[in-house]
Formats: sequence, C-alpha cells, structure tokens
Amino acid sequence: MTTFAELGLSEPVLRAITELGYEEPTPIQAQTIQRVSEGVDIIAQAQTGTGKTAAFALPVIEKLEADQRTPQALILTPTRELAVQVAEACHNYGKYKHVQVLPVYGGQPIGRQLMALQRGVQIVVGTPGRLLDHIRRGTLKLDGVRTVVLDEADEMLDMGFIEDIEAILQETPDDRQTLLFSATIPGPIGMIAKRYMKDPQRISVAAEKMTVALTRQVYYEVGGRDKFEVLARILDFETPTSAIIFCRTKSAVDDLGQRLTARAYQAETLHGDLSQIQRDRVMARFRANSVEILVATDVAARGLDIEHVSHVVNYDIPLDPESYVHRIGRTGRAGRAGVAITLVTPRERRQLRIIEGMIGQEIQRMRLPTIADVIARRREAFKESLREAVAAGGLESYTILVEELGEEYDPIDLAAAAFKLLLSEPEVPAEDTLAQQEVEERRPPRTAPGDFGDRPTGSRSGGGRFGPERGMSRLYLDIGRDDNVRPADIVGAIANEAGIPGRAVGSIELYDRFAFVEVPEQMAERVLKALKRTTIRGRKIAPTIARPQVAIPR
Ligand code: AMP
Repeated sequence: MTTFAELGLSEPVLRAITELGYEEPTPIQAQTIQRVSEGVDIIAQAQTGTGKTAAFALPVIEKLEADQRTPQALILTPTRELAVQVAEACHNYGKYKHVQVLPVYGGQPIGRQLMALQRGVQIVVGTPGRLLDHIRRGTLKLDGVRTVVLDEADEMLDMGFIEDIEAILQETPDDRQTLLFSATIPGPIGMIAKRYMKDPQRISVAAEKMTVALTRQVYYEVGGRDKFEVLARILDFETPTSAIIFCRTKSAVDDLGQRLTARAYQAETLHGDLSQIQRDRVMARFRANSVEILVATDVAARGLDIEHVSHVVNYDIPLDPESYVHRIGRTGRAGRAGVAITLVTPRERRQLRIIEGMIGQEIQRMRLPTIADVIARRREAFKESLREAVAAGGLESYTILVEELGEEYDPIDLAAAAFKLLLSEPEVPAEDTLAQQEVEERRPPRTAPGDFGDRPTGSRSGGGRFGPERGMSRLYLDIGRDDNVRPADIVGAIANEAGIPGRAVGSIELYDRFAFVEVPEQMAERVLKALKRTTIRGRKIAPTIARPQVAIPR
C-alpha cells in the first residue's frame, strides 16, 4: 500500500489531508499524483467518488510558487456547483500553504470576481464560458499558467463547451501541463489530446470483474434526507446482531460513533489514530458480542478476521469498487447469511453502477422501512423468541401466575397485556416524514397562522400534531438554530446528562431562537434538572416545561 508521504507530498499538504481524515490514497490518487508532479500530461478515466479531485488538486497545489500571486493553475468544470466544490477542495488541501483559490462562474456578479482577481489568486476554477469572458476582458492573466485541468471533460463536451475549451487552451502558454479527467473517453477527447496535449499518459481505475460471496446486497437512496436518520431507521428495522459500518474518513467515523452512542446504539469506533492497545480492546469487545456495531475506516478494518458479522453497512459508498468487495466480504462468512447495505446519495449513483458492473450483479434498491415496518419486524422477532421460550420449558413459576390471574381475566387479554408491556412500542405517528420522502418529493412546509417568521427543522419533527405525544412532556429550550444547535446536540445533551437513552427522546422542533423537545413524562423533571446543569453548543440554557402543552400548528 502506498502512503501519501510516499507520493512525495510535502508536510503542509500532508497535514491538511490528515486533518481531513484521509488515511491513504485512493487508486486514482496513487496512480496520478507522482506523474503529475513529474510534469507529464495525463488523461485519466475516473468518475466522481473515486477521489479524482484530490488526484489533480494535490500535485497542482504542490507545484505552486508561493510568492507568485497570478494564476498558475486553471481548472475547467462543467457546472458552477462543481466549480465551487473543487475550489473548496483546493482551499482545504492548500490551507497550510495559504493557497489563494477563486471559483468563477456565470450568474455570480462579475464585480466580486474582478476584485478577487486583482487581489491576486493562484488557482482559478471555473466554467468555460465565464473563464473565457474574463480572458477576453483581459481580467484573467494567463502568462503565469503552468497547469490546465479539464475536470469531467465528457460532461463539458456534452454541454457544448468544446469551442470555449479550445479557445481557452489556445490562450494559455504552450509549455503548460494539461490534465484531463473524464468518466468516459468519447471521440472528441482524442481530438483534444492530439491538438492540445503532449504525449498524454492514459490512466484508468476501471478494475477487472470480481466475484463476491453470496451476500444479500441492497442499497438505499438517501435523497435529501438526513443520512444519519436513514441509517438509524435501517438499523432499527434490520436489528443486526453485529454490524460493521464503514465511513470514508476518520473524522466521519468519530462523528458517526458519537451520534450512534447518543441514540443508545452500542457502537465503538476503529481507525488509524487509535493505539494498538485501544484497537485490541475494541476488537475484543466486538468479538465477545458486547458491542453490536463497529464503525470503521477501510484501513482499520483491513485484515481483521471477524466471523460473526451479520451486516456490513457502507455509510459512505467506497471510493473504489475493489474496496466494496473487501468490505462486504466480511459478512456472510462461516455459512451464515449476511446482508450488505449501501447508502447512496444522488451524486453517487454512478459510482454504484460502476460497482455493479465490476461485481457483475445488480444491487437491489430497497424502500426505506416505515415505523410501522419496524414495529412489524420486531413483532415477528418477538413471536420467534416466544416460540423458543415455550419450547425450552421451565415456565412453572409463571404458569402459577397465569392461573391466578386467569380466574379474573380472559387468558387472551392477559397475554396481550403482557406483550404490550414487554414490547413498549412507540405509537405510529400520523406522518412518517422520513419514509414518506421515499414516494413523494418533500412538499413545501405549511405556514402557521401568526407564524414565528421561521420554520422548524428537526430530524424528529413532530409532524403537525397538536400537543405532545401521549405519555410525553414537551420542554421549551431557549436555544435554537441561531446558536448553531442541531437536533443531534439536543438528543446528545439529554442522553448524556440525564442518562436516558437517546431513543427515548421524542420529537424535536428547532426554530431560530428556541426549540421544543418531547421526553417521556416520568423523566421530564430529571431532564430539566440535568439540562440546567449543562451547556449546549457552549451556551447555558434555561429549559422549562412548555406551556401550554400544545404544539404550534404547522
Ligand atoms: P471526488 O471523487 O473527488 O468527488 O471525491 C469523493 C469524496 O472522497 C470527497 O468527499 C473527498 O473528500 C473524499 N476523498 C478523496 N480522497 C480521499 C482519501 N484518500 N481518503 C478518504 N476520502 C477521500
């Protein structure tokens, strides 16, 4: 395995990518970075989700002359969204080299771009049309440009930018380096290569077909939903006996581990920053089944031999298809059936198709379970354990109890009451916002009469009910979105400080300056006391029971 340091990156750049939580180069990065540093022209076939941005951005940043404040690199992208995203990535990677980056695109007032250009920038990222505008106005000086990157070249060609691209290439110095990144390599790219590139080297990360174990492979679309809420719903439905959840970076692992713990899932984390002793300890607990969920990066999970994993979840889709195969190879071992679940955002659909192509099979899309589905699944599991308990016998002392009560009540009613107490199921809400998005686009929220001028957000929104849910108390908190509070902060504070499981916390409505949260009635006083002692996002709070106990109609 190559490391970033072995690719010749300098300390400030290494520090930035370490902080971002990258542990090792992706295949496209391993193949590209050094060659770009050597100055050769490159045609790389790689799609979004492979780490292609860092593959060109890191070596481009390495080569910048710190004291030269004119554009040294030009990056062309098909859309403004991508321009902004690539500019942000360059800014992050170049943080400790104090790299000056500017995104330019149509639709943004040109005056602001002019001012920034005058102040002096080193990397300009933009859509071809707007870049050409600046070149023609003489506001973008190209004499100092040493590298030109064509990002998502096939998309730019599809959008009809070929003439603009050619015009830009003609305006840049002849001795520049040209890098072309594209998911596909259609004919016109050959023409660009011939006219504007010098002996380009071809790099491709398309891997050979690989076969995977007989694991049930499914995916869920995240869409516009909170990814964490989607995961929580899936975990509640699947009730894994032991699962590994993969994230892309160390920071993502830590973050997810914390959020899961705050919701009372038994989760531990594993990544490269842990000492060997810490890792061994985590692994021992996982093997002994005293931890249900292991959240890990690819690197940390590599080489682990874990026999009993029922579920592998790709919280982040893997950056290269091969690691998909490695990841899911951890489930379904030793004759046990396993499930591999991948969460896919709209941008990542293409990456999913590539993985399917490589493993030579389709990954089935699943509909997000509703709360009613979760309850039904739990009942099935409960029935199964009842059957086992009856078969195992040893029920004598309980039989006496049933006989006693049987004189007073009908045995069916008795059993039903016992199940109700045991299962303590949540009530199915009128609206299941999370699952509902599956079938319809999110409708614009209704405005309340006498609206507060802002709208609540909350991953556990109360869904238009009047008054708290039965058995719950509604608390008023004098903090809100303006204090950068997220629903997770509130759940976390209640779970940690009052020592109640995050799952017991009910709906949260978050407004600009205040929030409502529902907690089980009998715990309300305890939660109030605990919250008064603590801070949320660094702020002291004065929580009270919300009066009157009704929700604001939405
Ligand atoms: P891209 O293919 O450039 O759109 O990158 C996809 C995502 O992967 C981005 O969120 C990057 O921040 C992330 N990423 C890129 N390289 C690495 C790496 N070596 N390790 C972990 N994450 C990475």
